[in-house]
Amino acid sequence: MPQRSSDLVETYAARALGAGALGLVFAVLAGVMWSYRGDSGGALAIVLGVIALGLLAYAAFSFVKSRGVSSFKLDCPMCGAANGFEEAPTSDVICRQCHRTIPIQDGRILPLRQISCNACGESNWYSDRTKSLLCEACGREILIAGPSGAAQYAVHDDARPYELVLVAFEQGSDDLVEALQERLGTNRAQIRTLLTNLPSVLLTNVPRQKAEILRDELSHLGAALEARPVGG
Ligand SMILES: [Zn+2]
Ligand SMILES: [Zn+2]
Repeated sequence: MPQRSSDLVETYAARALGAGALGLVFAVLAGVMWSYRGDSGGALAIVLGVIALGLLAYAAFSFVKSRGVSSFKLDCPMCGAANGFEEAPTSDVICRQCHRTIPIQDGRILPLRQISCNACGESNWYSDRTKSLLCEACGREILIAGPSGAAQYAVHDDARPYELVLVAFEQGSDDLVEALQERLGTNRAQIRTLLTNLPSVLLTNVPRQKAEILRDELSHLGAALEARPVGG
């Protein structure tokens, strides 16, 4: 995804502010040193002054850059929000307001259509590239016509965050403790705590695939686990 122009502006502005503030501190220090320089303080005051000048120059440079970030505007076809990018996006982007994916092909937004969920009636967006569509409101799958004209069901792209929960395990399974230690990067004592407070969340906010892979692995070691969407 191309860099958002607003993010770049923020980065440069933050640098300008940080360097500017530090530069001023050094300038004040240099001034104080100069006033009380005595025999040997003069050289130090000059060094501090040079550092201050360098920082202030860097601040000015960053400030100029923050003003010069060129912006490519893209209006979200779904919510209408203006999205700014450094340059024209060549791949899909996420709308900063509605967080939906805006499909980009050949530098242009793919045409979007709407379809109502037949479970809850919520209107959902999709494009020619949508392979499977989950209702934004109820999470159920919506049947859309595939490229061949045939309706297709396929829920493979589940973007929800998942958690892996240990529900039960066979007592005295040292293999399980070892596997948990290795996979979770925790020590034996932490694993014992996890095992004595069932059900316990082993992983959270991970992609569905990751949760399911670990679930299948650990279930061979006599553990019962559940991979489920966070909060669902
Ligand atoms: Zn939007
Ligand atoms: Zn629905």
